[in-house]
Amino acid sequence: MAEITICLGGNPNAGKTTVFNKLTGAHQKVGNWPGVTVEKKEGEYAYLGKTIRVVDLPGTYSLTSYSLDERIASDFLVKEHPDVTVVIVDASNLESNFYLVIELLELGANLVIDLNMMDVVRHKKWQLDVEKLSKTLGVPVIPTVAKKAEGLEALRQTIMSARDHQPEPFKINYGLEVEEALGELTDLIKRSKDSSLYAPNRWLALKLLENNTQIKEWVRTLPKGEQIVSKSEDLATALNDHLGRDVEAFVIEKRFGFISGLVKKCCRKPLGVEERISISDKIDQLVLNRWLGIPIFLVFMWFTFKLVFDLGNPLADYIDGGFSWLGGQTTALLGKSWFSSLLSEGIIGGVGSVLVFLPNILILFLMIGILEDCGYMSRAAFVMDRFMQRLGLHGKSSIPMILGFGCNIPAIMACRTLEFPKDRILTTLINPFMSCSARLPIYILFAGTFFPRQTGAVIFSLYLMGIVVAIMTALLFNKLFFKGESSPLIMELPPYRLPTVKNIVMHMWHRASVFIKNAGTIILAGVIIIWLLASMPVGVEYASEQSWIGQIGKLFAPLFVPAGFGFWQAAVALMFGIVAKEVVVGTLGTLLAGSEKGLSEVLPQFFNGLAALSFMVMSLLYIPCIATIGVIRSETNSWKWTGLAVGWSLLVGWLSAVVLYQLGQLFA
Ligand code: GDP
Ligand code: MG
Repeated sequence: MAEITICLGGNPNAGKTTVFNKLTGAHQKVGNWPGVTVEKKEGEYAYLGKTIRVVDLPGTYSLTSYSLDERIASDFLVKEHPDVTVVIVDASNLESNFYLVIELLELGANLVIDLNMMDVVRHKKWQLDVEKLSKTLGVPVIPTVAKKAEGLEALRQTIMSARDHQPEPFKINYGLEVEEALGELTDLIKRSKDSSLYAPNRWLALKLLENNTQIKEWVRTLPKGEQIVSKSEDLATALNDHLGRDVEAFVIEKRFGFISGLVKKCCRKPLGVEERISISDKIDQLVLNRWLGIPIFLVFMWFTFKLVFDLGNPLADYIDGGFSWLGGQTTALLGKSWFSSLLSEGIIGGVGSVLVFLPNILILFLMIGILEDCGYMSRAAFVMDRFMQRLGLHGKSSIPMILGFGCNIPAIMACRTLEFPKDRILTTLINPFMSCSARLPIYILFAGTFFPRQTGAVIFSLYLMGIVVAIMTALLFNKLFFKGESSPLIMELPPYRLPTVKNIVMHMWHRASVFIKNAGTIILAGVIIIWLLASMPVGVEYASEQSWIGQIGKLFAPLFVPAGFGFWQAAVALMFGIVAKEVVVGTLGTLLAGSEKGLSEVLPQFFNGLAALSFMVMSLLYIPCIATIGVIRSETNSWKWTGLAVGWSLLVGWLSAVVLYQLGQLFA
């Protein structure tokens, strides 16, 4: 009696028959698969007192149901659920052989990979890192030369020990849009599936999206199965639209992208003369080069940065100017009154402060769209991954972090390119510490006034401090909130191709409208609240000591005494800084000097050098501006994370300012 059933799968010519013969010797019987005239071979062998029944599957390239062979293979795997599935891989041809392996992994098969034809690999002097392969995929990998029975004993042993091991189904991330559809379908399937169908729900959902007719038939037999299938067809149609291409082709390409990254990581091939190198490989040799990879990435980022901010900022200034003009016209028309101030400074100013971000956001997503679509973005992540993993972050996190130096709003929106929630949230939360350009005027004013000879060094240290705090925060939050969750290695290397205009423009508009709709409301509300605080009670001078904001400033001022700037004007300036950090200097000007012009002469009456330093540190670290808070809320979709970002930055900012001032006084 057979105690263990295993099956052999693999591409044609990978050596399946050879392995089968070597394992089972003479104990074979040949029949037909039920209902069809395809030959079915079975055999058995004894190992450690157990009988192992071996079923030879038809040779296939995948589990989709294009051909009869593929249908038989997936039918057997899903319905009979063998104890162990051995997949025979031609190691000298990993790129194409691994497609089936990935499909089997996604199916959650209890897999043992037989890397056959190792003699060919050795002959070509390739270096295959078997251990890394096994670790990355989470299943045993056994190198063999089946023709010479080399490695077959290890294979038998591994099959035996793999029997009791039930691997977690392996997941490739198919990107935000497809994942969303998958989640929805998986839920539906989970609710109506019975035990007759062994196969992970996610796999079934994926096959439905891939328009697999066989799986559709199976799912139809479930209660409410008809509904699930028609839902999957609706989702697929929507995805085709959204992705700008067939979701089926998209999914296949993602798998090949994953494989090509995997092979790059695990297999080193010396450039043989006989090897033909594709253009794509040539570009990869350059952009993934150990020494050149990071400099090339930085050049791309620098170029993106220049375009987004050098081209975007003047446009933003136009929008800003336009809204100021509109506000001025409104005041002129309605006269100076509480109501006209609400209209011009509150509402028009508020809408303006939402729309002012549009040029940067549009240009950024144009650039990201191009880099993503042509295939470079995955390479960038690949190159930066080793370094970022050490910080508990993902290779792609480096992009938002660099963009943060320009403005945190588009930078945080760029976190959308991160597929895993953990990476997205961590990268979002640390982004405000990257010193955005709105904070620069504060540094220029204070460092220029108090440290005229070391202005550059002071400003540079502030930027550095922001990076250090961001990294420490990432390490800490990773430990606190995402214990043990490591993001998988990045593998994906999709083929290079020309970007499509339609795709890019669509994504650009989509993201811009998300910003206006979600973040816009929060920004508008914030601006109006601050306006209200500065104008109440009715009749008081805007933002004066008697206004509510002045009162609150007075209330908070004592908190800043240990930081060296415990007067109400500084507290009010910091509160206005929550609206936008650009406003800090202007507010200080109005409150301390009557206007911004004489500010640098007056400042030394209020601050000493140490207090100026601690005020700059506070401005760098404390609370993100309203627009940033709005985007954090809309991108994380959670007030909890938003609250954490605000609370943590306030705490870190205040503590750093106080510690700096106190230590400085000790040593001064
Ligand atoms: P199948 O189509 O997967 O059943 O593959 P076969 O077992 O028929 O093998 C295809 C060819 O590869 C045959 O000529 C085998 O002799 C040869 N072959 C099998 N294993 C090895 C191996 O480890 N090294 C080499 N060089 N050739 C092998
Ligand atoms: Mg064969």
